Amino acid sequence: MPARFTEGLTGSCSGNPPQGCRYCDRGSKMVLYITGICRQDCYYCPLSETRKDKDVIYANERPVEGDEWLRTIISEGRRMKALGTGITGGDPMVVPERTALVIRTLKEEFGRKHHIHLYTSGPFDKGLITTMKEAGLDEIRFHPPLFSWTSFRYLENDLDEGDASLTLPYHDLISEAKKMVPAVGLEVPSIIDEEGPGGPSSEGLLELARYACRLKLDFMNINELEASHTNMDIFAEKGYSLVGDSMAVEGSSELAWSVIGQVKKEFPGTRTVFHFCSSVYKDSVQLRNRLKRMANNLKRPYDIVTEDGTFLRGIVVTGDPDGMIAIIREGYGVPDELMEALEDRVLIAPWVLQEIGPSLEEETYLSEVYPTWDGLEVERTPI
Ligand code: SF4
Repeated sequence: MPARFTEGLTGSCSGNPPQGCRYCDRGSKMVLYITGICRQDCYYCPLSETRKDKDVIYANERPVEGDEWLRTIISEGRRMKALGTGITGGDPMVVPERTALVIRTLKEEFGRKHHIHLYTSGPFDKGLITTMKEAGLDEIRFHPPLFSWTSFRYLENDLDEGDASLTLPYHDLISEAKKMVPAVGLEVPSIIDEEGPGGPSSEGLLELARYACRLKLDFMNINELEASHTNMDIFAEKGYSLVGDSMAVEGSSELAWSVIGQVKKEFPGTRTVFHFCSSVYKDSVQLRNRLKRMANNLKRPYDIVTEDGTFLRGIVVTGDPDGMIAIIREGYGVPDELMEALEDRVLIAPWVLQEIGPSLEEETYLSEVYPTWDGLEVERTPI
């Protein structure tokens, strides 16, 4: 378990952050998207067209296909020296056999301490909690559908009014998970109401938070509501605006904090930890730390790892990479470990290329690329 976590995480948490979040915070958790299929149809769903409602698998950004799919997942975990895996979707519980198999395999390959959390929107057969527990699941996060949130007030609350039937399937699953899985919590976005504070979504968020305290859940994660290409139109119809040039929806973070403040007043000393996950934090801390970890693990002697977790490399474009390496070695005394021949180019240390590039006839440039499996280029600077 990582001993430390960033200020960004502790600053947004009302106690010790959930275990799964600590690994994400350090960038040491692989993100495993196990299917795009989901039983819900949330209007705010941020999934892209290539993933939503498609039965596809991605380990981090890497597509996983074919008979060797489990090997591909393991290899991606090794690329980043993953200490844990967060299984998400869609809903992983739509494909329970696949999910259980992958949990078991990850534990076998990376050891018992490899921390695995799973996010689910349910509902699903209660017996499957045992299946996940036996496979080795460490933490489960429930995302009940928005239409059910306000009805959580009728559960475990001595109220005989109202209709708890909407929430009962989730309550049963959450109660069962509490008996079986080491850590159980809720994870939902902070959804603002078109009509302003006090509408059903903000009321619902408060009811969920109260429920988490009454049930003594380990945590409740509240994510900042984020726009994406797929939900942008409906967000515009609802009159949502974005914070600055980010994708975060205005008012979402304020709502989350006001709910957390309210519930902390109502349940002083609650054991449930409330964690607000902002859009900026996800990008600037979680993603960047994961990229940095991957880059430092895969770094070659000719790479510079940038502050953003990308590689900076020199490129010489050539039809004869081996011949070009010989010319650079002999003409400029550059050691072989600072170069590598690819099909149509030579990768070379950027600090070397800056010196010798102007005297080469070939096209030369500095290339900044992600350390991800596809090595996506972020920027190219000609020399
Ligand atoms: S539960 Fe999650 S994956 Fe499913 S539709 Fe809602 S936001 Fe999308």
